[in-house]
Amino acid sequence: MGPGAGRAALISNRKVFNLFGEKVLHALRSSGFDVSVWLMKDGEQHKSMRSLAQAITFFSKSGLERNDAVVALGGGVVGDLAGFAAATYLRGVAFIQVPTTLLAQIDASVGGKTGVNTGAGKNLVGAFHQPRLVLIDTDTLQTLPQRELTAGWCEAIKQGAAGDRKLFDRTVRLLERVGTHASSVQHAGGVRIDVAATIAAHCRFKAAIVAGDEREATDRTDRRSRKILNFGHTTAHALEAVTNYRRFRHGEAVGHGMIVAAEISKGLGMLKPGELELLRSAVRACGPLPPADDVEIDKLIRAMKGDKKSVGGQIRWVLLDAIGSARIVDGREVSTRALRRALRAGLQTP
Ligand code: NAD
Ligand code: MG
Repeated sequence: MGPGAGRAALISNRKVFNLFGEKVLHALRSSGFDVSVWLMKDGEQHKSMRSLAQAITFFSKSGLERNDAVVALGGGVVGDLAGFAAATYLRGVAFIQVPTTLLAQIDASVGGKTGVNTGAGKNLVGAFHQPRLVLIDTDTLQTLPQRELTAGWCEAIKQGAAGDRKLFDRTVRLLERVGTHASSVQHAGGVRIDVAATIAAHCRFKAAIVAGDEREATDRTDRRSRKILNFGHTTAHALEAVTNYRRFRHGEAVGHGMIVAAEISKGLGMLKPGELELLRSAVRACGPLPPADDVEIDKLIRAMKGDKKSVGGQIRWVLLDAIGSARIVDGREVSTRALRRALRAGLQTP
């Protein structure tokens, strides 16, 4: 958006647009924008090269120019696709995120990663393209289904557990006092719980980590590197792949994955048992997870070895010294026996 920005190309999907589209259109138009709208199909399978091509055609037909802006209204699927389209159209136009899922509000909309899936893998093609603005209205969470809330809260617990003890405690307090459906200021037991302020704290946390390691440098292994945000993700990606992406929402798989990583940490003598129990109860507070105790452990281990987060064929585990303090550990330091034990213990229903 340069001076004289005139047009906004809004990307959303039918479901989200029916809920909030009119409000957003009104706000943009009353700020002087000419708005054109394209509704992409809903669902992860549409975060694709095909949708990307459709978005580019839409921009071109709308007459979108270098000084104009792309606005994403929706969850992480809409945000990633619209962001990648904005990153590539005319070699990059301004981009605004209006995330409407909890996961997109605390995680996907912040940090500038955009991209699409291809037949060869998830998020295989993408670009770093920072949004000019992330605009969050937590009232949108009121219509979000329970499983989407659970998935989002699991990623929130992840952010606290990996890098900020206070944020972890604050998130757990919110979940225990007002539950997963909280979307605005609430009063519980005489305490004021401001959900929006907690979500803002998560955005600040993620933004701070990203600011220190914007492109996730492959050689960084310190506890402020962007990689710590992958806490719980080695097992999560394996669980999602082995169940053909059908059983778990991504955040739900992260819920299980965090417990496995904490079990490994405990097994290596890094994490105190009491800290593992705290993490377990935090994950429980996020809501019920689909079971994972029937998934074949050998299949999981094979899937982990093929994950793109591994470097030189080695898994890099994000483990915990304590809640709020992550350590990146080379896969060779975790024996297959220790890994099996952690998977067996960690994948019991938390
Ligand atoms: P999603 O975008 O598929 O949204 C989940 C569902 O909720 C969809 O059906 C959506 O239409 C619906 N929805 C959205 N807002 C709603 C509302 N307010 N009320 C009711 N329904 C609503 O899923 P998601 O969890 O938001 O995002 C997942 C995607 O985000 C994945 O593709 C993942 O790769 C990506 N992601 C990206 C980053 C990043 O850094 N770029 C980080 C994490 C995840
Ligand atoms: Mg994630």
